Amino acid sequence: MTEKGILIIISGPSGSGKGTVVEKLKGDSGYALSISATTRPPRPYEQEGTHYFFKSEEEFKEMINSQKLLEWAEFCGNFYGTPKDYVMGKLDSGCNVILEIEVQGAFQVKKMFPEAVAVFLIPPDRQELKKRLSGRGTEDSATIEKRLKRASEEIELLPKYDYVVVNDEVEKAAERIKEIVRVSKMASFRYIDIINNFK
Ligand code: ADP
Ligand code: 5GP
Repeated sequence: MTEKGILIIISGPSGSGKGTVVEKLKGDSGYALSISATTRPPRPYEQEGTHYFFKSEEEFKEMINSQKLLEWAEFCGNFYGTPKDYVMGKLDSGCNVILEIEVQGAFQVKKMFPEAVAVFLIPPDRQELKKRLSGRGTEDSATIEKRLKRASEEIELLPKYDYVVVNDEVEKAAERIKEIVRVSKMASFRYIDIINNFK
């Protein structure tokens, strides 16, 4: 029987570097990244089906109604959601699946899959967050302000996550996440099924 993959949730304030760190993990065989649907307009470098599936609000609501989404949430005025079939298929085939999602979605997933590993990615400090968010150059100043305000609320939820990773250096942050996954694979509750083999 194929060993099931681990579901890894990565959340963190906008600009903390989730996308950048996840990009590093994606290069590793054994990890699959779930591609979300969103109503947010694409950034100049973003491609349909690679970064997101870009949807109209109507299309997004249709995905909700036809139960195509594992979870969904509104974030700073746009909708975001995780397509269900891809995630379930990859987990069944033994792949570790990464969900890069915000806090409300993370808690929905944790409720459905308590065995999922939830990681909160933070920048070294708030100054650095501001710098990264404006340095990315993809949002106007009003949107940046909105996202920073939301970051202050999100950080309060840090203790609800299983692990915290500081993204000081991308390479190191990615390595820390891999380490968390390696250890999580050895959690005793994942071995319940083999007890009978030893009786
Ligand atoms: P998020 O996906 O969390 O919103 P991004 O991955 O888009 O964040 O990163 C925000 C900005 O910060 C990008 O310009 C990215 O290149 C930069 N960045 C990410 N990680 C680091 C890091 N460890 N050190 C310096 N800059 C970083
Ligand atoms: P961005 O607009 O910067 O790409 O994403 C904004 C926020 O939405 C980030 O916190 C990101 O993790 C989150 N997000 C992206 N996809 C999903 C998703 O499918 N579900 C949820 N709940 N959040 C998502």
